[in-house]
Order: sequence, then C-alpha cells, then structure tokens
Amino acid sequence: MRGRNSPIFSNIKDGKAMATRKLSLEELQAVTRLAKQWGRIVVKHAFGEQGPSLDVDFAQMEEVACAAARGLTEGALEAATTQQGQLLGEKQPCPQCGKLCTVGSDERPLRAKGRKERGRGPFQSGLLSQ
Ligand SMILES: [Zn+2]
Repeated sequence: MRGRNSPIFSNIKDGKAMATRKLSLEELQAVTRLAKQWGRIVVKHAFGEQGPSLDVDFAQMEEVACAAARGLTEGALEAATTQQGQLLGEKQPCPQCGKLCTVGSDERPLRAKGRKERGRGPFQSGLLSQ
C-alpha cells in the first residue's frame, strides 16, 4: 500500500520505480512540508544551535532563506534532470544524422521559475536551459 502523500510509481524500468505523471496538489504539498523541515536545518547551519541572536533582522533571515531555496531548487533540478538523462541509455536516434548515436552530456546553466533575470522582464517562466 502506498501512503496517502507518496507519488505513484507505476513504471518499472530495470527494477526501479519511477514516477510517470504530474504530481497531485496533495503530493506537492507533502514535498513542501518536507522542504519546510529542511528550513530548520538551514537555520541551524546559518545561525548556530541557538538560532539567530537579537541583532539579526528579518531581512538577514530572508537572505539566508532565499540562499537555501536557490540551493534546494538547483539541487532538485540537477538530480531530476541527471536521473532522467540516464534513462536515455547509451544510444538514441540522432537529431542531426538520424542514426543511432552515442548520447553525450553537457553542463548547462539551469534557469527555473521565479528567478529574476536582469533586463529581461520580471521573471523567467518555465525551465530554460541554454
Ligand atoms: Zn548522429
């Protein structure tokens, strides 16, 4: 039996379970709750076991929270795209020559929703890679 908030893993490849569909609102809320718990760990790392002292203002706390959110976003997207890329296997039909060619990989900067992009409108929408 799967838990109420765990994603459905209906596709089994090489004996490993994979999520095959968009997560429900409930499942996304469970992810948010999990990440919220990591927030406590971040505060401990940033301000020490006792938390922030009285001279730390809200803006400083927010700066730490935003740095953590950036790292969490980058880490999650790197893990998801790397694992998904591994599903392609060694060879795929090549978009250039049409034959089966060896799949390579490149380091690319990831841009996710909500990141401010200077001089190009307020927000980037969607995940873009360049
Ligand atoms: Zn090719």
